[in-house]
Amino acid sequence: MSTVRDRMLEVLTSSPAGFFSDFDGVLSEIAPTPESAFAYPGAAEALRTISHHVAAAGIITGRAVDSVATMLPIDDYTVVGNHGLEWWEKGSRTDHPAGVRAIEAINHVMSETQRQIEGAIDTEGMIWENKLLSSTVHFRNTADPATVESALLPIVVPLAEENDLRVTFGKMIVEFRPKEHVSKGTALVELIRKHDLQAVVFAGDDVTDVDGFRSLAEMRQQGKHTLSVGVVTVDSHPDVAIYADVIVPSVGEFIQTITEVAAILEDQHA
Ligand SMILES: [Mg+2]
Repeated sequence: MSTVRDRMLEVLTSSPAGFFSDFDGVLSEIAPTPESAFAYPGAAEALRTISHHVAAAGIITGRAVDSVATMLPIDDYTVVGNHGLEWWEKGSRTDHPAGVRAIEAINHVMSETQRQIEGAIDTEGMIWENKLLSSTVHFRNTADPATVESALLPIVVPLAEENDLRVTFGKMIVEFRPKEHVSKGTALVELIRKHDLQAVVFAGDDVTDVDGFRSLAEMRQQGKHTLSVGVVTVDSHPDVAIYADVIVPSVGEFIQTITEVAAILEDQHA
């Protein structure tokens, strides 16, 4: 059986090829707070090298583009932030109209969620991250995340509905996003179209990345050469392993794999 590295190389040596990855839980370990995350040693170098040998490369994340830029130099590649709502390519930034339209509603549901939950339970350690076009409520650092999650559910689901937003759940986070279907999956389809890619690798570790995995499976039906890579750890949602074509068991192993891929691509072009 071929290794994950070999499967990635098969795709990336087709032409034109694209290489895209989520950030948290893939290029960085999951951190206690969004600001304390940092790129895993070697991640930036591997991504930069790969980007030199493929038609398009970059990061597709739920984070805002600015937040990614504080952790990695992003000038060489594409960053699609806010789950497909915010695009940074070759130094120019574009906000998806669906995200811009949702700014006010997101502001409102964030303050309303905060108001309702603060009266109900102990919220110490919760982080309220408003990324304008989408937002994230983090509860990893609370004393009892399971209780917080069950208190959040009956608040956020109706609030999202009333305000024409979508709510999604991840690793000890809840996110508000525009209702219009914009996701890491639609971002990948757009990248494939824009760069006329014939072959694509996408790596992710959480439920929102599964949208990307499913898009790649659909593109494969249409004759594209695609590979989805799941970084699957103990706290991964089961869908990540179910929908990924191949899996690796840790961020460290993923970075090791892409470092080898980068070195082989570099040798082939030397
Ligand atoms: Mg992630």
